[in-house]
Amino acid sequence: MPFCTVCKQFADYEYDITLSNGNHLHSSCLTQLQMRADEIEVVVRQQSAQLILSLFAQTEVADGEVASEDEVKKLSSELTKIKNTLTAIYDFLPSWPPDWNERKRYLVQQNGSICFSCEEECDVYLIHEIDLCEGGTNELDNLELICKPCHESMYGKSDNFANFTLNPSQSEFAPQVKDIQSAINNNHSIRFDYKKPNAKTWMTRVVVPDRLFNIPNSRDSGQTLCVEGFCELRQDIRVFALERMQDLEVIDY
Ligand SMILES: [Zn+2]
Ligand SMILES: [Zn+2]
Repeated sequence: MPFCTVCKQFADYEYDITLSNGNHLHSSCLTQLQMRADEIEVVVRQQSAQLILSLFAQTEVADGEVASEDEVKKLSSELTKIKNTLTAIYDFLPSWPPDWNERKRYLVQQNGSICFSCEEECDVYLIHEIDLCEGGTNELDNLELICKPCHESMYGKSDNFANFTLNPSQSEFAPQVKDIQSAINNNHSIRFDYKKPNAKTWMTRVVVPDRLFNIPNSRDSGQTLCVEGFCELRQDIRVFALERMQDLEVIDY
């Protein structure tokens, strides 16, 4: 009988996540952990913003508005624990992990922005050494930094970059894919409204798209069509699922 690795309660084979190390996980438990981490991060950020502010101006802060130093210390250690749990889960998630960009940043910090194949210092992408669909994990030792030319010569141009081919079951996204491809080819940006899995509201994003690709779904054997690009809001490379976008348009600046 499968049990959830977080809450230790019974988990259902059909509806819950089966990690690639054989453990099980309620999607609701994962969501709760992620939301708690977000919540704590907000409090910690508010407190440090308040600290910085107080260095410049003698602002009177009403009691209770900002968490006390002790509270923040407690929350920070809770956050570290949650993040460790999340990282251990993401390691074996059967899909690309939400902290993919953090993993990339970590490897770049450790090794520099150096392609593992040609050993040149250049723009690198993060890839799995052994693919997820072939049983590979998201653990750091299964991840590699690679440059675009090396990736293309190893996997062929049509794989992930530039010439993305939509698979037939995703034909509903054909108009958006066409727009995104034209934006990639012409160095244009795209603007769209985006709703994250647990968010209640839509947010407008402007992204300089880099590539389209499919990632395996964690819930079924399907694939989620995504675009990766530089997000102006976050000032960072981010991945967006097309199914969570609306009102996509190409803008030429
Ligand atoms: Zn659970
Ligand atoms: Zn290379």
